[in-house]
Amino acid sequence: MRIDLHTHSTASDGTDTPAELVRKAAAAGLDVVALTDHDTTRGHAEALAALPEGLTLVTGAELSCRLDGVSMHMLAYLFDPEEPALLAERELVRDDRVPRAQGMIVKLNELGVPVTWEQVSRIAGDGSVGRPHVASALVELGVVPTVGDAFTEQWLADGGRAHLPKHETDPFEAVRLVKAAGGVCVLAHPAAAQRGPTVSESAVAELAAAGLDGIEVDHVDHVDQVGPAEHDPRTRDRLRGLAADLGLLVTGSSDYHGSRKTVALGAFTTHPDVYGEITRRVTGAFPVPGTGGA
Ligand code: AMP
Ligand code: ZN
Ligand code: FE
Ligand code: FE
Repeated sequence: MRIDLHTHSTASDGTDTPAELVRKAAAAGLDVVALTDHDTTRGHAEALAALPEGLTLVTGAELSCRLDGVSMHMLAYLFDPEEPALLAERELVRDDRVPRAQGMIVKLNELGVPVTWEQVSRIAGDGSVGRPHVASALVELGVVPTVGDAFTEQWLADGGRAHLPKHETDPFEAVRLVKAAGGVCVLAHPAAAQRGPTVSESAVAELAAAGLDGIEVDHVDHVDQVGPAEHDPRTRDRLRGLAADLGLLVTGSSDYHGSRKTVALGAFTTHPDVYGEITRRVTGAFPVPGTGGA
């Protein structure tokens, strides 16, 4: 069984539609894929309608959180998408992304970059708008060569010249909301240090005590580059140790964003036993197996 528990579609900042994403997931040989768009469940219906035979869809979302000024992401799986408190929180975060993107555009204009809201909203379509969409606009304008190159101090990195924060949920509140909505909660890429400051081990311990189910360990941003093409597992070993100490589940996933990032579907995967445990803990929604091209 090949299980990838973290992907993005055009419902947020991925480049494949939800239907394309599930087709590519099946073609990549995955048995289970989770659709975890930023702060939205909007892509689920389309993914379900297009689900290829033999592929199981885990409905989810990646919730934007912040603790003591540090941004962090919480993967929420198989919660009830209609549960009012969690729904309201997702809407709050998603709605705030619009004025925030517009504010970053003003900052870019002040820096001499002629990006417009029309351009960014065209790129974002009806997806939850984020920095990767602004970054794609910068690529279109020839300001930076790739989306990744826009995530620097000069442009859109946390605290960068054109960066603005958005409303983000307290992660303890996120855990409480997700559990109350019948879901399972996994802290995404807890050691993605190249994105900015990361959450402390003591905070992970407190989140575990508050009901956090697991941490994402096998992730492209946890592959340390010590030399040419060297894959040093130090970070992942440390996180595995932390998970063992705290009794947390260990997941692995691609965080696939289509062509907006280079990582492939299924580049990292979750052990079937962990997936089984996740589904055992769920009371909100259930994984949906493919029905054969409905
Ligand atoms: P936002 O939610 O609008 O603050 O944008 C955050 C998203 O930008 C993350 O979910 C990643 O998909 C992407 N991102 C963050 N840091 C980087 C980076 N260094 N390179 C490429 N993409 C990044
Ligand atoms: Zn993203
Ligand atoms: Fe993330
Ligand atoms: Fe993600």
